[in-house]
Amino acid sequence: MTSAIYLVKGRDKSLRRKHPWVFSRGIQRIEGEPTLGETVDVYANDGQWLAKAAYSPHSQIRARVWSFEKEDIDSAFFVKRIRQAQMLRDDFIERDGLTGYRLIAAESDGLPGITIDKYDNYLVCQLLSAGAEYQKDALVKALNTCFPDCHIYERSDVAVRKKEGLEERVGVLHGELPPKSVVIEENGIKINVDIVNGHKTGFYLDQRDSRFQSMKYVKDKDVLNCFSYTGGFGLYALKGGAKRVINADVSQPALDTAKFNAELNEFDISKKRAVFLNADVFKLLREYRDQGTKFDVVIMDPPKFAESKAQLTGACRGYKDINMLAMQILKPGGTLLTYSCSGLMEQALFQKIIADAALDAGRDVKFVERFEQAADHPTDTAYPEGFYLKGFACKVF
Ligand code: SAH
Repeated sequence: MTSAIYLVKGRDKSLRRKHPWVFSRGIQRIEGEPTLGETVDVYANDGQWLAKAAYSPHSQIRARVWSFEKEDIDSAFFVKRIRQAQMLRDDFIERDGLTGYRLIAAESDGLPGITIDKYDNYLVCQLLSAGAEYQKDALVKALNTCFPDCHIYERSDVAVRKKEGLEERVGVLHGELPPKSVVIEENGIKINVDIVNGHKTGFYLDQRDSRFQSMKYVKDKDVLNCFSYTGGFGLYALKGGAKRVINADVSQPALDTAKFNAELNEFDISKKRAVFLNADVFKLLREYRDQGTKFDVVIMDPPKFAESKAQLTGACRGYKDINMLAMQILKPGGTLLTYSCSGLMEQALFQKIIADAALDAGRDVKFVERFEQAADHPTDTAYPEGFYLKGFACKVF
């Protein structure tokens, strides 16, 4: 018999609004002895059935909803969700000429704890919750049904799995081990993805739309691309006709791939038109400021600074610091393209930090455009937390 969770009176409101999380403090009692990740029925205090959810005994988020309908959570269920997710993306895939995209964006695609990126014919899964782990076989079966020609690889090497009582795990789930070089295409640009060793699942797909929009600011400009990873914004800058691009990152493998990517696209990088600099951005920006080196465009796409609420204050300081320095090394009328992928940092707070940075830099700064995560990272109306990546184009005087 399926185990059951009964909620504290009044704690059913968010579920009735289709938000998929049940917190431990919202639970009054549990019937049965559900194991790690097992599917349970969730009931309101008055006994009304609400949802099917995965049980996470070690997490504050004690259950994550698979479905608000009375249906079995099996491979047929996953096929249904995957097909819907693919359908949602079909338009963007065609519009932007994508051979790499996020197929499943966890809660936002009705599959809590499951992220799946598709790079050519390699599907890369990140299973972050006990429920996702429990359903692994059903999920792999469903992926095989939907994409019979694809290999499936797991990159669940993320620390948050600890909170769910799970070990980190990587390896082949179906088919072959991904080669070191899988080439994808977006907006006519080729990008090499190292699925096994790269960051996250190999590439930052979420910045695709912002990368595309950045192209209109770079023609004939001198561009500094901070936190470049494998080239990302730098490749679009070359395509957009930038005079010179400096890509700065602390990861040498990422920089090597960035250079490889520039060559792969046959961009002219002779005469130092593209530079791949192994440097700590925090130090580099200070050096440029102290030397008086100036740029027309600075791109600022740092890693996530805030993983938890406790880290938010420190993160704010970090964002203010790098954005102030970026403003200080921009020529008058220059463009700052700046982003924050910390979900805990709301857009309004990020805007305020940029305003504080402008004051400290002593520069007059105008917001001219706003950016968000790419379209294959949708936000479900019931789950606003799915919106995490925001950015601004600023003119700096
Ligand atoms: N803009 C990239 C994604 C950036 S991810 C794209 O469009 O694909 C963040 C990058 O910051 C990673 O490559 C990481 O190696 C780098 N990084 C982290 N801390 C850094 C530091 N202090 N200085 C320079 N690079 C850093």
